[in-house]
Amino acid sequence: EDYKNASKHIVVLAFPFGTHAAPLLNIIHQLSDACPNTIFSFLSTQQSNNSSFPNKFHKIKPFNVRDGLPEGYIYRGDPNEPVEYFLKATPGNFIEAIGAVVAETGKPIDCLITDAFYAFGGDIADELNIPWVVLWTAAPRTLFVHAETDFIRQLVGINGSQDKSLDFFPDFSGVSDLPGGVTFGDLDAPMAAMLYKMGLELSRATAIAANSFEDVDNKVVNMLKLKFNMFLNVGPFNLVSSVSSFTIDDSHCCLDWLSKHKPSSVVYISFGSVATPLPHELEALSEALEESEFPFLWSFKGNPEKQLPPGFLERTRSRGKIVPWAPQQKILQHPSVGVFVSHCGWNSILDSIVGGVPMIFRPFYGDQILNTRTVEVVWGFGLEGGTLTKEGTKKALKLILCSEQGKKMREKIGIQRERAYTAVKPKGSSVEIFKTLVKLVSDI
Ligand code: UDP
Repeated sequence: EDYKNASKHIVVLAFPFGTHAAPLLNIIHQLSDACPNTIFSFLSTQQSNNSSFPNKFHKIKPFNVRDGLPEGYIYRGDPNEPVEYFLKATPGNFIEAIGAVVAETGKPIDCLITDAFYAFGGDIADELNIPWVVLWTAAPRTLFVHAETDFIRQLVGINGSQDKSLDFFPDFSGVSDLPGGVTFGDLDAPMAAMLYKMGLELSRATAIAANSFEDVDNKVVNMLKLKFNMFLNVGPFNLVSSVSSFTIDDSHCCLDWLSKHKPSSVVYISFGSVATPLPHELEALSEALEESEFPFLWSFKGNPEKQLPPGFLERTRSRGKIVPWAPQQKILQHPSVGVFVSHCGWNSILDSIVGGVPMIFRPFYGDQILNTRTVEVVWGFGLEGGTLTKEGTKKALKLILCSEQGKKMREKIGIQRERAYTAVKPKGSSVEIFKTLVKLVSDI
């Protein structure tokens, strides 16, 4: 019925790992509000759809695609494994599902919107003779690196010295800041190969929307605008709309707990939806928290009883709270939070910017190291990096929470915060650019 009444049908292909499907669904919600006669079919794996669609939406319908896992597959703790099985199943699983959606609904497709990772989106759209719009969910600087991979490889070589400089680009330091698979590591690994292909193919997209804002990283944003037809900064989504119930669920009463603490005094810790520090780092971080005596709120994946040092939970109960999931956006906007110990995923950085909270980094893989570089050197509101040590963490906590330098960092992140809020005000850049995107999608 919903399909019959709609004048347009847009198919959306999500990347079902890390925090990718959530921002994509977020922008689809915004588009759905702006284009009331359009129906959206949202294609992802069953697991991803189950967590993205706790509620049904009238004009956004989830459809499941094959996850590519072998029969009886059991997850053994390597997050790459399901990703690689999934990538092997693409694009076939999506093509099958698109066929099924059209057959089931009787509605031809007017536009394809995909996660930017899916270079094959260009071929599917060409085949159907429809526009291809993508969402880039990470930082502009990371997109730039993937779009310029061939150029970077020519200049610094492949698997050469990690000390080579990248100073031919603004505010880039060296090769060691790049994501694995760009100039070093296994260039043929499935993720690396996918990102390389993405860099080559994205210029075919009708538009690239991004969860960022014009002034977030000016020089790089300008280069991307020169490179692509339409590079549209329409974020940050954590300010534009908050439809995703998973980010605001406060069943563990974190916000009440925070309200009992002094302004800028609490350490908030989270390493995103995928990464977990090594056992010795969990121990170092626990000891640093215990010895430095700051109150802390820890979003902990796993079993804290088993994974944290014996007695730690009892000894810190009066000033520490550990939960399996926290409403991070709201937490970082709470005045009691003074520092964020983070893996530096892009969504987490945007949460920190919007909350005005300086960061301590523990990056793991992919874009996270490049993100720390941007936060530390370009923006100046974070420090550390590499594996967590007790002394390093204690020093960083003290510096951010108790020193003049920490105050300066808060001022610096305040500038980014201001820019983010300005972008989403009426007539702000993200609001105006979103209108361009709406027009593009409505005029098809
Ligand atoms: N997040 C949350 N509660 C938690 C941990 C994370 O709401 O306890 C959200 C956070 O707001 C962000 C996302 O999960 O939107 C993490 O995304 P990011 O890009 O930082 O990392 P990823 O999950 O992709 O590694």
